[in-house]
Amino acid sequence: MGELRQRIDEAALRSGRRGREVRLLAATKQVPPERIAEAVAAGVDALGENRIQEARLKLAPFRGVRPLHMIGHLQRNKAKAAVELFDVVESVDSLALAQLLSRLASDRGASLEIYIEVNTSGEPAKHGVDPAGARDLAMSAAALPGLAVTGLMTVGPLAGDETAVRRAFRRLRELREEIAANLAELERGTLSMGMSGDYEIAVEEGSNLVRIGTGIFGPRAG
Ligand SMILES: *Cc1c(COP(=O)(O)O)cnc(C)c1O
Repeated sequence: MGELRQRIDEAALRSGRRGREVRLLAATKQVPPERIAEAVAAGVDALGENRIQEARLKLAPFRGVRPLHMIGHLQRNKAKAAVELFDVVESVDSLALAQLLSRLASDRGASLEIYIEVNTSGEPAKHGVDPAGARDLAMSAAALPGLAVTGLMTVGPLAGDETAVRRAFRRLRELREEIAANLAELERGTLSMGMSGDYEIAVEEGSNLVRIGTGIFGPRAG
């Protein structure tokens, strides 16, 4: 993980920042608990899972040890479990989901951090709200009780050259500026962007939270 941190540092420097401004989230899908514990000991800042069922089994022991992030698409019938387990839900891409999370968090007397997931590449298979709808969704969600909108999240284009990848990440940074004009707390909010294959570009474009699986744990089986 030392080399990963060093590359993040170098990419941060190229964007006029310091590496410690970029948090490292370990994406733990298909990774067994003992390896997650190693990553925590090695100093990752946060843990992220895509599926509720897997997260309940593997991440529950790390509650309170590291912030737990839901990074996968959230089905409505899993929302209650998500609110009970996670500190941050990064994948909010509809008002209906935001309203449901708001109600569930309020019922617990708790506040839940959410990020708005944006489909910055326009790839049809992607989750995430269209860039044109991100501002309205962020504003509406921020007005709901029990929710704090603290960031934006995107998955970079899976196909395409560096230019396309860079454009998608730049779009998310611009969106944060546009939304922060109305929602001041987003000005210094999280930009969750960058995975193993594209995190250096993401950090150069302003990411302050990278989500790394393969780059920490090696290739996943299957
Ligand atoms: C799996 C996953 C990651 C990490 O992917 P790697 O390419 O293994 O680093 C990051 N974000 C999301 C949403 C993921 O599902």
